[in-house]
Amino acid sequence: MTGIPTITLNNGVAMPQIDFGVFQVPDEETTAAVAAALDAGYRSIDTAAIYGNEAGTGRAIAESGIAREDLFITSKLWNADQGYEETLAAFDASLATLGLDYLDLYLIHWPAPAQNKYLESWRALETLHADGRVRAIGVSNFLPEHLQPILDAGTVVPAVNQIELHPALQQRGVEAFNAAHGIATEAWSPLAQGAVLGEETVRAIAAAHDVTPAQVILRWHLQQGPIIIPKSVAPARIRQNLDILGFELTDAELDAVDALERDGRTGPHPAEFNG
Ligand code: NDP
Repeated sequence: MTGIPTITLNNGVAMPQIDFGVFQVPDEETTAAVAAALDAGYRSIDTAAIYGNEAGTGRAIAESGIAREDLFITSKLWNADQGYEETLAAFDASLATLGLDYLDLYLIHWPAPAQNKYLESWRALETLHADGRVRAIGVSNFLPEHLQPILDAGTVVPAVNQIELHPALQQRGVEAFNAAHGIATEAWSPLAQGAVLGEETVRAIAAAHDVTPAQVILRWHLQQGPIIIPKSVAPARIRQNLDILGFELTDAELDAVDALERDGRTGPHPAEFNG
């Protein structure tokens, strides 16, 4: 292992704080990207049924020779598969496509509130968790208004809420709600898909530490606590995104990055997305 910090989830399961994402990577390219990530030292991989690359992810895992218990694998339930029985079937399909016999984390990908099925889906995740087929269960893109019904009706508190989070969209309210309920926040698009890397503030901080703008942004996240999931298909960037443990941002630098907030959402709004 590479000294990657871990977060202890609310059920005692340890999750690496730096996760490797494969959104928008075609299946045939995913095996090489995940292999490069594992080679660089990542042990946590974030995929989803809708990404269409669970097979490529699974191939890289199988070929890596790394013991399964040393890996942390996340996948997600797609919106069209919500519902109790549908969720159980979708989980089986993800596991089969990945070639695994358990997951470390399974998330409801979006609340899709107009479908009004996420409580049933959550009940299925509780079943999968109770049956030992997944070590931790959680949600993604849930606002407090979507989490509260799960907290009220469920028997398991979500371990993770994976949300869009970067300097241009900091979602402090959602993060505070998560923290107040023992739910770990995981930041997707931590680099804002590149949108904040050219900011003068970020470039100046990068120059001061002799690191890259991407490393500044990832370090900004890390010092505040969320789990992060940088994605890259380029081996040099894959390594660079993990190389963020050897420097520290000052309070003033953290504040300067905070000032980049501009409600700059790159993805859909969770209250409105049902597709
Ligand atoms: P990121 O914020 O991770 O940005 C990825 C982009 O930044 C790519 O274009 C990549 O290009 C580029 N990049 C990566 N590293 C560097 C670097 N060091 N310097 C310069 N550019 C860099 O965006 P994603 O949207 O991919 O989000 C990351 C992960 O979050 C996803 O892969 C997925 O796992 C998860 N996610 C979850 C969602 C959800 O709804 N739950 C939604 C979206 C993402 P290149 O590959 O060419 O290096």
